[in-house]
Amino acid sequence: MKAIRFHNFGDADILKLEETPKPIIGANDVLLQIKAAALNHLDLWVRSGAREKNIPLPHIPGSDGAGVIAEVGSAVDFFKVGDKVLISPGISCGHCEMCLGGTDNLCRSYHVLGTKEDGTYSEFVKLAATNVLPIPDGLDFNQAAAIPLVFLTAWHMLVGISKIKPGEAVLVHAAGSGVGSAGIQIAKLFGAHVITTAGSEEKLKKAKTLGAVDVINYKEKDFVEEVKRLTNKRGRLVTCGATSDYDGKIDLRFVYAKHLTLYGSFMGTKRELIDVLRFFKKGAGNVQLQPVVDSVFPLEKAVEAHRRMEERKNFGKIVLSI
Ligand SMILES: [Zn+2]
Repeated sequence: MKAIRFHNFGDADILKLEETPKPIIGANDVLLQIKAAALNHLDLWVRSGAREKNIPLPHIPGSDGAGVIAEVGSAVDFFKVGDKVLISPGISCGHCEMCLGGTDNLCRSYHVLGTKEDGTYSEFVKLAATNVLPIPDGLDFNQAAAIPLVFLTAWHMLVGISKIKPGEAVLVHAAGSGVGSAGIQIAKLFGAHVITTAGSEEKLKKAKTLGAVDVINYKEKDFVEEVKRLTNKRGRLVTCGATSDYDGKIDLRFVYAKHLTLYGSFMGTKRELIDVLRFFKKGAGNVQLQPVVDSVFPLEKAVEAHRRMEERKNFGKIVLSI
């Protein structure tokens, strides 16, 4: 099968289109013929070797994908060959107390597809049958691949952890990012007043079409002062990553005096992905969620796709069509 692989860590140029053996599935697995794979920032860190550790080499990156089931393991009776599915990218043991309690993203062995095993920049990928879900009606493969990781992350942050309520103000950083473009829509779905930031007027315009009310160009305005003005200087902060830098500084006097709360968030549960997918279906209500596809590249143009993300040119998801 054809796949994009790298044999050592480095910049985008190390991504090569190669011929590799098709995976062999076990009794509880499915073999998915990938039609579309979507990029995440995680892919850049896996490729560079700078943050993600213990990546086996050579390696096929990619966490998000959608396609058609090509083979079904002998113990799997809930999917059949030909079913159109998207990937639920959180991999966990499936039998510990966290997994059985419905909080699989807290499993000790939890990780994201495409880090410890081969991912989705490929014609085929092997997955546990519990790691795929039917594609909501009306979505094509490119749109379906653009949903899982970012909508799951944003849903877990806003709904699972922060428990947002109608009328609350929500600041979503980086409107153009995958998680940002998903977060704006989910916050709006719950009746929140959405404030967002981006580095260009074009991105801010798009953010408004997704439901943001107040938009701040962080290159022109001090977003901290703007947000203080728009809100009552109080809040709870949820963070799901540190793309531009790791180090932040907190003055503890403000944490207690202003009743501030700081949450860490990583991915979300399998159940939360099922929950968020409901809002992509027709008839779920007046407000629908929509996958935000920035651009579609053929698989062999993975290098260009990575560069587009590194240069922050995208608004929403960059997809590889296979
Ligand atoms: Zn587990």
